[in-house]
Amino acid sequence: MPIFSLPNFTKLKDTLKHQGLRNKLVKTLIDKGIQDEKVLDSIRKIPRHLFMDSSFGDFAYQDKAFPIAAEQTISQPYTVAFQSELLQLKLGAKVLEIGTGSGYQTAVLLELKAKVYSIERQRELYKKTKLFLSKTRYKPKVLIFGDGYKGLPDEAPFDGIIVTAGAPFVPKPLLSQLKVGGRLVIPIGDSTQIMTLFIRKSEKEFEKHEFGDFRFVPMLENKN
Ligand code: SAH
Repeated sequence: MPIFSLPNFTKLKDTLKHQGLRNKLVKTLIDKGIQDEKVLDSIRKIPRHLFMDSSFGDFAYQDKAFPIAAEQTISQPYTVAFQSELLQLKLGAKVLEIGTGSGYQTAVLLELKAKVYSIERQRELYKKTKLFLSKTRYKPKVLIFGDGYKGLPDEAPFDGIIVTAGAPFVPKPLLSQLKVGGRLVIPIGDSTQIMTLFIRKSEKEFEKHEFGDFRFVPMLENKN
């Protein structure tokens, strides 16, 4: 199914060449240890080149992060796959994403049949991605310009929360907005981050698991 529903976007093509490059990318991700078939399928389906500036289009299927607007980056496909796998989403899961960025991770969550609530802190990027996604078949429930440190108390609790910027510490509101059994996936650290998974075991108990080092743009504080 084509992702664009409006005629003026038909010039943005997803060609057989792009699909071939995506299949190769998926093989790379499998080699790097990604196993979740649904996550791999969503990466196989989503035309990542359309989420990037056309000047970077040729690089879209390398397993690399790339610049988008407002000095931010679209995360590396391996990182997107790794975080998505850790969330272990069930069909219809309610997910909060901190750092909408290009909307690519948002699209992956939607392909996993989640209901997605996403927050972006850079107004320029928020506007650009909101317009872009509105012209695709990727429809988050809520896309807001706001501060991810606060989460989204009005819509809580969530089955999953994913933070796609490097957090200096775990924001307490995010832990408290998880359902019991819910999972928070967050890279924690300054110049490099440790991918960290919190599972809420009860009202008061959280289990913490740490994975390898990753590198993200920093999670911004106090920015309007
Ligand atoms: N998931 C995105 C990653 C973008 S990079 C993608 O694949 O394209 C991280 C994003 O987090 C940036 O867009 C940045 O502006 C945003 N961000 C940084 N601090 C934030 C905060 N406090 N709340 C919400 N978003 C934030």
